[in-house]
Parts: sequence; C-alpha cells; structure tokens
Amino acid sequence: MVKNFSCSLNSLESDSLHEKCGVFGVYGKDVEAARLVYYGLWALQHRGQESSGIASANENLISVFKGEGLVSHVYTESSLSLLKGSVAIGHNRYSTSGGSCAKHIQPIYEEGSLFALAHNGNLPIVTNLQNFLISKGINPNGSNDSELMYKILNYYVVKGYSLEDAVKKCFPMFIGSFCLILMSENKLIAVRDSYGIRPLCIGKLNNEGYVFSSESCALDIINAEYVREVNPGEMVVVDKNGLKSFELAKGTQKLDIFEFVYFARPDSILLGKRVNEVRKSLGRILAKEARVKGDVIIPVPDSSIPASFGYSQQAKIPVDFGLIKNRYVHRTFIKPAQSLRDLGVKMKLNTIPEIFKGKEVLVIDDSIVRGTTSKKIVELVKNAGARKVHMLISSPPVRYPDFYGIDTPDQNELIAANMSVEEIRNYIEADSLHFLSYKGLIEATGLSENLFTTTHFTGIYPIDIGERNDINIRKNFVKISV
Ligand code: AMP
Repeated sequence: MVKNFSCSLNSLESDSLHEKCGVFGVYGKDVEAARLVYYGLWALQHRGQESSGIASANENLISVFKGEGLVSHVYTESSLSLLKGSVAIGHNRYSTSGGSCAKHIQPIYEEGSLFALAHNGNLPIVTNLQNFLISKGINPNGSNDSELMYKILNYYVVKGYSLEDAVKKCFPMFIGSFCLILMSENKLIAVRDSYGIRPLCIGKLNNEGYVFSSESCALDIINAEYVREVNPGEMVVVDKNGLKSFELAKGTQKLDIFEFVYFARPDSILLGKRVNEVRKSLGRILAKEARVKGDVIIPVPDSSIPASFGYSQQAKIPVDFGLIKNRYVHRTFIKPAQSLRDLGVKMKLNTIPEIFKGKEVLVIDDSIVRGTTSKKIVELVKNAGARKVHMLISSPPVRYPDFYGIDTPDQNELIAANMSVEEIRNYIEADSLHFLSYKGLIEATGLSENLFTTTHFTGIYPIDIGERNDINIRKNFVKISV
C-alpha cells in the first residue's frame, strides 16, 4: 500500500536542473524516524532551500510528504504525524537555472513501488540511462538524472531483485556524482559514487540504529554519534541485522574542494578536518600571500567569517561585523534573473556606517562567481563611508563550471573566466582585489591535492562530462596571475 501527498505544489518545470542538495536518512528502533529526519533537514538547510521532502515507511506503507520552500515552511505538526515508522529519508533541494520545480522535489517515489530515493549530486551523462530505459520499454522523457536512476533501480526491483542487488546491478551505469539514500519498508541504504565528490557520513543512534547524512553537523542535532564517512564506491545497508558494507567499485577519494570553501557548514567534519579550521587557514594563508593592511576586516556573512578570523590572527587587524545579514532571505544565488539577483543582495545585507567611516577596509568573501555580490558589497561599503575598500577572496578565481551537482552558472557568466583580476577589480570598483592562490587553497586543507575535485579552479573533471566538455568549456583564458 502506498500514500503519496504533498503541499503547495505549482508547476514551474525544467528538465535540465543542476543541484546541490542535502540528504538525510534514519533507521531506528522504536523511533519516529521522520521526526529525526526533519531535524536533520533543519541542520542541512544551507544545502538546499528550494524545497524539502520526507519519505517514511510503516508496515508496508511508504508515505511521502513534500513541498516548496524552507524546512520550516514545508512541514507542520500534522504532516509529520502522518509520517510514521522507524525508517525514513529526507531531502533538501537546491535547484538553479530552471527555478523551483515542483515535479522534481525529492525523495523520489513512484506510486506502487517498493522504495524511495534521495540524491545529492548530478550525473553529467544520462544518455546511457535513457537508452537503457527505452530498450526496456520505459519512457525516460521528462525525467531528470535522479529520476532516471530511480526508474532503472525500480526496473530491477520490479523484476524481483532486492533493493541492494538492484543497486549493485545499476551502480556501473551511473556516471557522475551521487550520494544516494534509499529506503524500503525495512531497510536503509546509502551509496556514494566512486569518487566521493559530495560528502556523506554515517552516524549511530543511542537507542540502536543508524543515520546517514550529507554532513556531520546534522548528526549533532539528534545526538547521533559520528562513525565515519561512506567510502567512495561503497554501499552501506542497514536493516534489523545491523550495518553491512559492500565495495561496489574501487574508490578514489575526490571530494569537491568547494565544500571546504563555501558549501559545508563550519561545524561539519570532512575528510577528518573541521571545516571551520580549514577556513581559518584559508584566511591565514590569504593574509600571508596578499599582505594587505588596513584598519578593519569585514567578513561577508556568514561563509567568510572563519577566514576573516584567520586573516585577522595573521595580520593583526581587528575584525568587525560591519555587514549585517538578514538571515531570512534565501541565498541570492538561486534567483535566476540578473535583475532579481541585484535586488537580492540589497535585501540581504545592510551596513553599520560607524564601522566604516573614514576607514581603510578589508572585505573578505569566500568566492567570486558572477561578481554580482562583490560589486554590490563594494558599493555598500563605500556608501557607508569607507575611505578605501580592499576585496580579499579566500579561494582562487572560479573559472570553470561544475557538472557534479553544484550550482555554478554557464562559463560565460563566470566573471573570472572572462576577465583578468585587474579587470574584475575595475568592474567591482574596489581599490584592490586579491584571490588566494591554488597552492594556498590546498595547503589550507592540510590534505593532499589528489584527494580533491578542484574543477572550479583547474578545469579538471575527474568524471567524464561527455559532450559538455566540447560545448561548454573554454580552456584558454585571458592571462590571470594569482
Ligand atoms: P556572485 O555574486 O555570483 O559572485 O556570488 C558570490 C557569492 O555567492 C559569494 O558571496 C559566495 O559566498 C556565494 N556563493 C558561491 N558559490 C555559491 C553557490 N554555488 N551557491 C550559492 N552561493 C554561492
């Protein structure tokens, strides 16, 4: 038996979505798993703000509740009380150019089937999946990468394969980045692609049971104990007999380094490193490289706060919170139209003029993507009375788009793919502009370069991106020295 219900869906649809998301799953004993998932999704809100969904299983009944908006908007006491059972999965979605798209809200679940799926990542190549489905008489039209994966898994489940055997069968067909959490009525499964591009970790619940989460910060909220990461190429199955691990492919760790730069929460642990500490190191190294002095360091809230403290420690310049963020405005990046993005920055940030008046200011941000934010911030800071504005970026120039589940725009929209550092400085109207070097970025992680996907900065794509390579990527740039 099946129940599938949803809240406030409208139909803005696009089939070419790229997303960075948060996934969370619970297999417990005598727990209301959906409630734990709900708290987990709260802690993963930063990974997706377009929509959210939870699926839970109770005595052969899989129920799904989903809706557009923040976790706090989507669920109510009564919707959660309908999601019974001790197995549940959840998903926060972050869609980009297509805007929000009700049809694609996850977890994915098809009426009458035996499992639900939540996916973080992106498959740049799906033609093999589409062809497979067509060859089996299943229509792939209108399905995004996650839904194609679901359909293929479902094909095997319908044939009588267990969910984990279906995953084993399908794993080689999935080309791209994926952290999957799947559930049936009595099982919870986590799968990570063989490069481990997106993060996924395992936690243990006190009163028996396990949790899977995109980031460790979401384990803390429900008092689950951090166990380890799901290894690249690994499938972890949890059922009444406990936890079992299967190596589906020889894994090569290639975590997206942008998780350290921007995505992950500072209180999460990735590859054994606290994100906050790595970000402080980014700031310390930036201070050593850029050697810019001034009266005050202003972090662009929130993601560059740790780097600002790192810079401050190294350069002995005080930090002050001169830019105040309205926390109730979604990240500006998700607005598709340029005009709306401009408005978004103004809605999001305000200044405290006394902190800026007559000062030489060092503004620190984690990255420049399109350049919209930096330009607005320099303007805001100057209007607030700063004498000079130095823009310091705790990562190298973003010159390449990502096809592994991150929300970066077309390469033509990446400012550093089209302008030199001096041209960007001129465009954003800062007195100086400094990026962290690539070497400094790697050094700050304290880890080996070969553990990372560095696509944004190097244009190296560890997993085949197929025809996008020729169509989308320019490798020859204006001379950039950082
Ligand atoms: P932009 O205005 O396009 O240059 O965006 C840069 C700002 O967006 C920085 O303040 C970053 O903190 C933030 N940012 C960087 N990457 C992303 C992303 N993938 N999604 C949302 N915000 C981002």
